[in-house]
Amino acid sequence: MTKEFRPDRLDVKAFVLAGASLQGHESLLKFERLAQEAKGLHPDLRVDWQVHGEWRRETGNETGQLWLHLQVQASFPMICQRCLGPVDVPLEVDRWFRFVADEATAEALDEQTEEDLLVLSREFDLHELIEDELLMALPLVPRHDECPTAVRMASGDEDFEAASAARSNPFAALASLRVGKNEPKG
Ligand SMILES: [Zn+2]
Repeated sequence: MTKEFRPDRLDVKAFVLAGASLQGHESLLKFERLAQEAKGLHPDLRVDWQVHGEWRRETGNETGQLWLHLQVQASFPMICQRCLGPVDVPLEVDRWFRFVADEATAEALDEQTEEDLLVLSREFDLHELIEDELLMALPLVPRHDECPTAVRMASGDEDFEAASAARSNPFAALASLRVGKNEPKG
């Protein structure tokens, strides 16, 4: 009988020893914290993920090492900090995690290794890991590779230009106000 693995309550050890895989194509709305970050933009976006368990033999250790390979692809709606237009930022996660018996082992190993260590659990929440990884992958300053400036200039929206400039540099905007006031009358 094959065991059913549940992504929200994953028996990590059994999953790894079975060399099992899971994948999902889920709505962004299933990831509450991420959905909040999206601020209502494109609520129909999807998150694609795959996870695969791999047991690695270790000399002198019969239990070996338990690894999960996580890959996530998503695109996330943000506001471009250059043109203030919407931009769908592609997010990609590709990481290996090694599971160890307990917190103490993780702490001890953490000093000697660059590996990403997690504590073994019989009810591991894969969703939470996926969400954490995506949140960390969000750029601090989202930007278009190339802003659609041609479109914006064609619209001739000067208020938009001014608002954009003021937001990107409030001090510059203040300075220009001051200059305006001091202009000689007449
Ligand atoms: Zn832009």
